Amino acid sequence: MDKQNNKRIRTRDEFSSFLESLFSVVSAENIIYDPERLTAYECDGLTAFRATPLAVLLPRSVEEILSILAVCKRYKVPIVPRGAGTGLSGGATPIEGAVVLSLARFNRVLEIDPKNRTARVEPGVTNIRVSQEAAPYGLYFSPDPSSQIACTIGGNIAENAGGIHCLKYGLTVNNVLGLKLITLEGDILTLGGKGAESPGYDLLPLIVGSEGLLGIIVEATLRLLPKPECAQLVVGCFDDLAKASQAVSLILSFGIIPSGLEMMDKLVLDAVQADMPRALLNSAQAILFCEVDGMQEEVEEQSIRVKEIMLKAGAKEIVVSKDDSERMLLWKCRKSAFPAMGRISPDYYCMDGTIPRKKLAYLLKKIDELSAHYNLKVGNVFHAGDGNLHPLILYDQSVPGEFEKVEKMGEKILELCVQVGGVITGEHGVGLEKLNSMCIQFSSEEIEQFRRVKKAFDPYSLLNPAKTIPTLHRCAEFGKMHLHKDNDLWGGLERF
Ligand SMILES: Cc1cc2nc3c(=O)[nH]c(=O)nc-3n(C[C@H](O)[C@H](O)[C@H](O)COP(=O)(O)OP(=O)(O)OC[C@H]3O[C@@H](n4cnc5c(N)ncnc54)[C@H](O)[C@@H]3O)c2cc1C
Repeated sequence: MDKQNNKRIRTRDEFSSFLESLFSVVSAENIIYDPERLTAYECDGLTAFRATPLAVLLPRSVEEILSILAVCKRYKVPIVPRGAGTGLSGGATPIEGAVVLSLARFNRVLEIDPKNRTARVEPGVTNIRVSQEAAPYGLYFSPDPSSQIACTIGGNIAENAGGIHCLKYGLTVNNVLGLKLITLEGDILTLGGKGAESPGYDLLPLIVGSEGLLGIIVEATLRLLPKPECAQLVVGCFDDLAKASQAVSLILSFGIIPSGLEMMDKLVLDAVQADMPRALLNSAQAILFCEVDGMQEEVEEQSIRVKEIMLKAGAKEIVVSKDDSERMLLWKCRKSAFPAMGRISPDYYCMDGTIPRKKLAYLLKKIDELSAHYNLKVGNVFHAGDGNLHPLILYDQSVPGEFEKVEKMGEKILELCVQVGGVITGEHGVGLEKLNSMCIQFSSEEIEQFRRVKKAFDPYSLLNPAKTIPTLHRCAEFGKMHLHKDNDLWGGLERF
């Protein structure tokens, strides 16, 4: 962890006095400090990193949040905002000496406005609930992370979450119209609104994806879309990952913009196969899911085209959904891929890098080589249309030294992503996990600029510090250089 975050509360007396100040501003039932109950907040979905917070605070009102921030500022106690804790990069994991600020009780849908096609919600509302509440009006919220039953809108915004349908309808950043944000200084900022344009500097996209470093999101206005008239899912089975990757490029080069274009390899298929149609299991090395949506005629025409393209690229079997319930069942196989990995491995580490699509086959081959080198199995399930890879490195946490090996391999995969012109995260964020990889992606000048932006919102560095932006000292210790994509630096990386 970076050195900037020395524990600020050092003695039992200081802690008692801090707690007393909290009890004077937040009701007792909204403060957790009993060590047993704190264990539930030791980490997010990235369970390899853990720390116990000083306390967990569950405010119910903006006034309570303002008071909590003032107390934390007085005692110089870092604050880690938290939604549902499903993040995969350690964003909501406490750091030593910090409190967790849970937004779980900010869970009201404030307004569904069918005329403007917007929803105004509190940050603790789950992603799926927005679409459920909008459904009676024929509307839905399009960003759909696989964790959508549990993850919250606050967490989605802070991570700029993606999902299966983001290829056509955009990431969270493209579907948030307005925000209310509380800064550490206690200012309440209103950014954007119901309309597409607003006056002044456009700070909204700066906050989306800021990983809880710049302020506490207390309200969001979301764009709702009309449900498409119909949708059809074409699922192809390939005996080679490279052929499936070629089908991805072909589909897009024919001008089709699928509402979802996802791939999974043999290992992941082994994990989810109980749920897959038999026809798709025969000697499949890769499965490609391609959904098209829109007006009935357009969908029929495009799904025929997609089927032809998949066959041309070498698909062995193809299944086309006959109705919506079959389409949802097929998607369930894709969406259940992460949890299903538990069937074949005690632990897995989910990476998240994005590359130009034309490099898909190349990078998958390189990941295979890394897998052999480190003697660690890797499953691939990913948003192929966006070039957003999720290599799942399988391991056993109980084997000493195995996780360190996994971490090294993960860093190598991200280095490869940067080398081919990609980025170290597509949707899971940097958090605690990818601090070293930030040193590869960005120059020291760029990292310094990120630090200045953070300071403008949070001069005392108390909001989720030690995350996302590495210190230059750390980059120097890590000993890795920022990679210039255009340079031929392969020599340095082929050492693994
Ligand atoms: C099985 C599984 C599947 C997943 N699939 C996907 C996927 O398809 N696409 C995808 O993008 N992600 C996916 N994720 C990752 C995760 O669900 C997303 O990152 C999600 O957006 C996190 O939401 P959360 O409410 O759990 O946030 P948390 O994990 O609680 O927090 C995430 C970050 O947001 C910050 N934060 C939370 N609330 C606020 C707030 N109100 N104000 C300021 N900062 C805040 C936290 O400090 C932290 O940095 C998956 C995770 C799992 C476990």
